[in-house]
Amino acid sequence: MKKIAIIGAGISGLFVANLFKENLNYQVTIYEKNTSIDLDQGYGIQLSTNSIKLLNKIGFNTLENKDRFNPDKIDFYTIKPEKKICDLNISHFNSVDCKYTTLKRSKLVEFLKDRLNNNIIEYDHSIEKIEKNDDQIYLTFNENNKVICDYLIISDGVFSKGKSLISNKEIKSSYNNSIAIRGNILRNKLQNLNENNISLFMGHNFHYVIYPVNKDKENYNFIGILKYQLSAKELENFSLFKEETFIQGIKDKLQNKISTTILDDIKCFPVFVSKGYLKPGKNIFLLGDAFFAFPPSFAQGASQSIEGASELFDNITNNKNFFYENRVAKIKMINNRSKLNQFAFHVSNPVVVFFRNISLKILTKNKKFLENYLGKIYKN
Ligand SMILES: Cc1cc2nc3c(=O)[nH]c(=O)nc-3n(C[C@H](O)[C@H](O)[C@H](O)COP(=O)(O)OP(=O)(O)OC[C@H]3O[C@@H](n4cnc5c(N)ncnc54)[C@H](O)[C@@H]3O)c2cc1C
Repeated sequence: MKKIAIIGAGISGLFVANLFKENLNYQVTIYEKNTSIDLDQGYGIQLSTNSIKLLNKIGFNTLENKDRFNPDKIDFYTIKPEKKICDLNISHFNSVDCKYTTLKRSKLVEFLKDRLNNNIIEYDHSIEKIEKNDDQIYLTFNENNKVICDYLIISDGVFSKGKSLISNKEIKSSYNNSIAIRGNILRNKLQNLNENNISLFMGHNFHYVIYPVNKDKENYNFIGILKYQLSAKELENFSLFKEETFIQGIKDKLQNKISTTILDDIKCFPVFVSKGYLKPGKNIFLLGDAFFAFPPSFAQGASQSIEGASELFDNITNNKNFFYENRVAKIKMINNRSKLNQFAFHVSNPVVVFFRNISLKILTKNKKFLENYLGKIYKN
């Protein structure tokens, strides 16, 4: 029996563990630095059909219907003036049992965690050293806690310590000159939105998205992306984003762009993205944001974490060697689309906005374009 060690119990680590736990040729353990998995309410997440199809294989379709939502369309609006431009039929890519889905991130994580035996996750294990000797990998956690494994899957997120331990060169993620603003909104605070759809508002250096996260459409997720320069000193100050004065500064910046009731209870996070990728040697793999973190404007990070995990499982169990080849091709496509989306959502020159809106109206109804731009990503 081969031993598989997974570093990090996020969406990618939990999903890949779910796949391996069914295969008796492998014994899988997740090493998580925190003392538990945070299942607090938290924010929403969008999952496209490529990941829903894979999640269904481990029983996601049995998750209570009330805990998720299937939007019909994405409605595009301009922020100023607040005006609907067009809509895109996102359900076009759905099939009977595989639909574009929005839900609370915590519901997804809980589902992935609950399917694993308690002894699969070792908490309070922060990776400190990775050494290789022939075909075996030696891991050290919390100073002197040692583990030997045959395969190592590093899925410890965008600031991956595992990745920095195995690479000689610096492949650090970098600040994307934008901050994410997140919040939960109750229906009674929203006006003039189609409750069955995802609403995307575009403005000068800022866009935001609102969508329901469960069937009764009482709770909505708010996610805004604001272009924002930060100095190196500010970036090192981890508590900056929790400071009341900083959050108030963001609220002031947005006061003419968005209703103050929405901004009541927001949190801010810096957005970090990958600039390159690393292909470690045999038997060591990077997964999820540890492999590559995208700008969040295509809502594909978690879906790609799930898709990458499935490909990795297939490669290891079938002794194939195509993991990075396939992944890199897909990552490039998504990274380019994410950057293009953010650019298009944030333009402000009135002439450019005029042509952007005309293009959006045409492209969102053009089947060939949609197959190429979204279909290539949503069908795996
Ligand atoms: C604002 C925003 C909105 C987003 N919205 C969407 C969306 O709608 N749809 C979508 O598909 N994607 C979305 N994403 C992306 C998505 O959230 C991520 O791609 C996804 O969560 C990555 O999962 P992961 O498991 O790779 O990493 P993480 O979820 O970061 O998990 C990493 C785990 O590793 C653990 N860890 C860290 N360091 C160590 C260590 N040293 N030792 C051991 N364990 C460690 C952490 O505690 C954590 O549990 C969004 C991202 C952002 C920033």
